Amino acid sequence: MGEEGVFPVGAAVWYTMPIMRNWDETPPGLSERAACTGCTACVAVCPRDAIAMAADAEGFLRPAIDAAKCVRCGACARVCPVLHPGGADPAPACFAARTRDVDLRLASASGGLFTELARPVLAAGGVVFGVVLESPGLTAIHADAEDEAGLAAMRGSKYVQSDPRGTFREARAALRAGRRVLYSGTPCQIAGLRRFLGRPEPNLLAVEIVCHSAPSPAVWAAAVRELSARLGERPRTVCFRGKRDGGSWRSGRFAWALADGREGGEPFNATPYAAAFFGFLCSRPSCARCVAKGGASGADLTIGDLWGAERLCPEWDGPTGVSVVAAHTERGRAALDAIAPRLECRPLPTDEAFRANPFYSAPAPAHRGRAWFMAHFRDVPLARATRRALRGPWPIWMARRALSKARRLTAACDTLFANRGGGK
Ligand SMILES: Cc1cc2nc3c(=O)[nH]c(=O)nc-3n(C[C@H](O)[C@H](O)[C@H](O)COP(=O)(O)OP(=O)(O)OC[C@H]3O[C@@H](n4cnc5c(N)ncnc54)[C@H](O)[C@@H]3O)c2cc1C
Ligand code: SF4
Ligand code: SF4
Ligand code: SF4
Repeated sequence: MGEEGVFPVGAAVWYTMPIMRNWDETPPGLSERAACTGCTACVAVCPRDAIAMAADAEGFLRPAIDAAKCVRCGACARVCPVLHPGGADPAPACFAARTRDVDLRLASASGGLFTELARPVLAAGGVVFGVVLESPGLTAIHADAEDEAGLAAMRGSKYVQSDPRGTFREARAALRAGRRVLYSGTPCQIAGLRRFLGRPEPNLLAVEIVCHSAPSPAVWAAAVRELSARLGERPRTVCFRGKRDGGSWRSGRFAWALADGREGGEPFNATPYAAAFFGFLCSRPSCARCVAKGGASGADLTIGDLWGAERLCPEWDGPTGVSVVAAHTERGRAALDAIAPRLECRPLPTDEAFRANPFYSAPAPAHRGRAWFMAHFRDVPLARATRRALRGPWPIWMARRALSKARRLTAACDTLFANRGGGK
């Protein structure tokens, strides 16, 4: 595809389909770019294969249209979930749950619900789609699994935006062949899949994860480069939130293994990559205006961490993890019922289930230092770039520090004089 023939899908839609202009009166390129989640529904639906995903300057994949191939049919705009958002689910049935299999729990990010939901699908001759880290670059991509080894690679959270590649079409082909399909992903990916499929699919179980936000694949690549330089070679695998060797559910260990079997790790929260992720320095711009959360994606189930477990089910709160599950559909309920003997599970009041987990439904606001961070993370070591972006420029940071010291001094003087006054 030549450079001149490629321009953003928003621009193509704007110039080729006047009906689309009702959606957003702002010119293409800004708001549309910022809202695009990179779900790939438009790519999958295009009958001429005129759309390809390409990384932008921040490393996020975006659709680009080859104008020479486009026949202006409008299918891409019709499936785009940003243009056609769903409504949030006001009252999902919520549960605290965890697998009874302690080893499975230890190998999973939360309570191991994903694997338990996936196994019956495989047992029925179905196929499961989820996220794996692809070698050699440890790139997060969606893949299909038809056996336990495939499922094992999907276990654990990969804290970087995944590339769904061609899995929407693969999932449709499996469904049309009469197979059961479990498709897991972020709410925006599930929303894209649903719109791409375009009709109820009785054999589909759509499972979304609670989504804080999706970090940039280019920032993750920089973290992998730094880690590889430190270790002298690129790790064969990594686990973002390991629960073994000193890690736990609440305090996951960023663990790696080298090709020769050597292993190591450190607390995930202590890594600069985690600081950038949790600090909203490298999230996809669409995450700040997400329209897919809270059941709006059309997912049958939402799975996440049961933050607040110490209050909601203290006897399960511990290092191995507990999941929160929201069932949005009858199919979601039926899937949970089918695995009930393998779970410890109890209902939760809807308003309690996600109280300590705001990103179940809330968009992820960008940090004010995001622009600086995204412009500099390639040139400055991640630790320094993250510190600088979170603190702000040094004169502002110094002024803030001086102010807080002055406040503490004033408070100390007030206490001193008050005590002296009281002694008189
Ligand atoms: C980027 C990201 C942000 C998250 N933010 C929150 C949060 O704010 N609050 C919360 O409660 N939970 C969050 N989670 C979800 C949580 O960490 C667990 O993934 C979830 O609870 C499932 O855990 P499990 O034990 O059932 O199964 P596991 O086997 O550990 O689950 C793995 C599942 O996660 C999917 N997955 C892994 N990485 C990705 C990815 N990059 N993109 C899409 N899907 C992926 C896999 O396909 C699989 O379905 C987040 C996960 C990711 C990847
Ligand atoms: S308008 Fe039709 S042909 Fe053109 S990019 Fe969109 S789906 Fe493809
Ligand atoms: S949100 Fe999805 S369907 Fe819409 S333009 Fe972006 S990638 Fe395409
Ligand atoms: S916050 Fe929303 S837009 Fe961002 S990755 Fe998650 S579901 Fe997608």
